[in-house]
Amino acid sequence: MAHRALRRGLARPSRQPAQVREALHRRADHNLIRGDDGALECFVAIHEDITARLASEEKVAYIALHDSLTDLGNRYALDDRLDIELNRARRLGSCVAALWIDLDNFKDVNDTFGHSVGDALLIAVGKRLSSALRDVDLICRLGGDEFAVVAPDIDGRKAAANLAERLLATFQKPFTVEAQEIFSSASIGVTITSVNPISRADFMKQADLALYRTKSEGRNGYRFFETEMDVEIRRRMRLAQDLHRAVERGELFLEYQPQVALGDRRIVGVEALVRWQHPQLGVIPPTEFIPVAESSGLIEQVGAWVLRVACTQARAWQDRGLPPFPIAVNISAIQLRDPRFADSIAELLAELGLAPEYLDLELTERVLMDGSPLTDKTLQTLNGMGVGISLDDFGKGYASLDYLRRYPLSKVKIDQSFVHDMETNFKNATIVSAVIDLASKLGLRVIAEGVEPQALLERLVAEGCEQVQGFYFSKPRSADGLERLFTTGNDRIRAHPPD
Ligand code: C2E
Ligand code: CA
Ligand code: CA
Repeated sequence: MAHRALRRGLARPSRQPAQVREALHRRADHNLIRGDDGALECFVAIHEDITARLASEEKVAYIALHDSLTDLGNRYALDDRLDIELNRARRLGSCVAALWIDLDNFKDVNDTFGHSVGDALLIAVGKRLSSALRDVDLICRLGGDEFAVVAPDIDGRKAAANLAERLLATFQKPFTVEAQEIFSSASIGVTITSVNPISRADFMKQADLALYRTKSEGRNGYRFFETEMDVEIRRRMRLAQDLHRAVERGELFLEYQPQVALGDRRIVGVEALVRWQHPQLGVIPPTEFIPVAESSGLIEQVGAWVLRVACTQARAWQDRGLPPFPIAVNISAIQLRDPRFADSIAELLAELGLAPEYLDLELTERVLMDGSPLTDKTLQTLNGMGVGISLDDFGKGYASLDYLRRYPLSKVKIDQSFVHDMETNFKNATIVSAVIDLASKLGLRVIAEGVEPQALLERLVAEGCEQVQGFYFSKPRSADGLERLFTTGNDRIRAHPPD
């Protein structure tokens, strides 16, 4: 049998030495038949050929420990082998490393090219990863696009890091599957045994936590498990669990931050920012729980809730006689992957009777980066409806000027990090002024975010920036707080009494 994975150090099903197998093969029960005088007359031999049974036993053992798609070890093989290696390391004082590997873009491959290409990619990845291993290492597929490597007798942290780098290097060249060239990358979480004994379950959790960290830090790399990850990630896990009920229990709420025109110091728009009033942990900021919502599949529910509440509020302000202004809502990349996204916005606006020009969707470059035809289509549809589209955090990520041309944007929000130190950082000041210039040539509005001190404001006015959102004018406030600010103003914002 071609047991490649067996050779890759997989625990072998128990095998008898050749002589024993031979004997078994020819096993015979000898019954002697003797005459009355005790003399041997004949004997009966029953001969059973058990080749087939042995083969099927071996096959069952093989299937039980292998992943049927890639022929690598499976989860049981991993458990088995980890038990053995952790024990051995404890006895001999040696080190074992575990590496959890997750492909970064597998879902996209499946969505774009279909499942058969996805499967072929997994097989190819399994082969490449195997080629970077030593004979004693075990590689398993844990399911989906997750792989795991057990590396026994590893010579400390440095050697484990080298191994992680070798594994990552196997992704440098594209994979050719079914005539498609596919570039893929992976995130790896690494853990290594210390002098303290550790259970298999805890060891596996460590590798998983390290992987989680790699993914949340931007993927395509590796991280070692560190003790503090435990605390942090336990919190994230708890948040993910509690977030399930947060919407239905009414624990989410919105705050609103004004966007102010520098010309006449009036509020020209409002950004809705979500918060979570956790019953035990207090108010959780969106920077903490939005990523949790994104990775636990809850962002669609949270995002839909935010859109509905923000648009309902915009409508309510109009009903109360405030001059209409657009409400900006942050949209996560995952929301935009829903082919029904534009339709659901249209339905919501129709239901609430809110004109589309009073909704402004804030997208980051990360959302636009995938360049998928769906994103294009959705944005064109929304733009056609009259919904505004702003490019948020411009400059923070890829600062691709191409997005400014390519998508039907109405506004660019210059990221806080450029604005903050504009006074002292010449490069950033140049970038801000270039973006303002470029945007005005492309007919886009520009808003600077994160403006706190007066001096910064003056600088932005001098650069020709039209709008500002920042603590200088107001922190995010409750709906009532925002309405008061709008109607009565403060020493920096002009009052705008209801008609
Ligand atoms: P963002 O979209 O860039 O939102 C602006 C953030 O900057 C807000 O933080 C706001 O309070 C803060 N900010 C505004 N002016 C100033 C200033 O002058 N100084 C300083 N230091 N900060 C200022 P917040 O509310 O914590 O939101 C953080 C991020 O969370 C948002 O960044 C946005 O990316 C995300 N977020 C918020 N609400 C939602 C939502 O409903 N859906 C999604 N997907 N993301 C959201
Ligand atoms: Ca925003
Ligand atoms: Ca922003």
